[in-house]
Amino acid sequence: MSRYTGPVCKICRREGMKLFLKGQRCYTDKCAMEQREYPPGQHGQGRIRTSEYRVHLREKQKVRNTYGVSESQFKKYYEMAKRKRGVTGENLLSLLERRLDNILYRSGFAASRAEARQLITHGHFMVNGRKTDIPSFLVSEGDEIEVKEKSKKLNIINEALENAQSRGGVEWLMVDAEAKKGVVKALPERKDIPMAIEETLIVEFYSK
Ligand code: SF4
Repeated sequence: MSRYTGPVCKICRREGMKLFLKGQRCYTDKCAMEQREYPPGQHGQGRIRTSEYRVHLREKQKVRNTYGVSESQFKKYYEMAKRKRGVTGENLLSLLERRLDNILYRSGFAASRAEARQLITHGHFMVNGRKTDIPSFLVSEGDEIEVKEKSKKLNIINEALENAQSRGGVEWLMVDAEAKKGVVKALPERKDIPMAIEETLIVEFYSK
């Protein structure tokens, strides 16, 4: 399935919550959700029909769109989560959080996961000293992430790091903004993932 290339703010408006897809703009009053907090389209302000299926589907779409993964990738993460020990919904979120593009966004090296994907594919980052250009790379506890020497002066990375300071850090990641390095201190648990969603609804969606 091809990646959605339309206006991303419409995705937030359709889901009725901020998914933080557009970098720094999401933290300002220019955010479309601050101005038009209703679904896009001609009938956006009309009554929305709800069904059990729709509730489950929307919860799945919120998470899938937040992390910017395709339908088939998302299903693969779900299958992986199911095979792991523990609670499937929590395993699913933990796996998505471990993607390298998400790690760069959470660490502040990129303003959004989409920007992180672009930086990774352009080869600006290393994991444990090796160039890694796969956004879906899953980090492990203790992994070291570093901006490549020749990329340390990139404005896009420095601006993202500066803006991220006001948002505060993430407990399970250690970031040295000066050295442009980060370490995965621990793997994320559900309590570490700031998302107002009910992951059990996603499990129910796939279990039907
Ligand atoms: Fe969503 Fe960000 Fe657009 Fe706001 S600015 S609607 S949070 S993508």
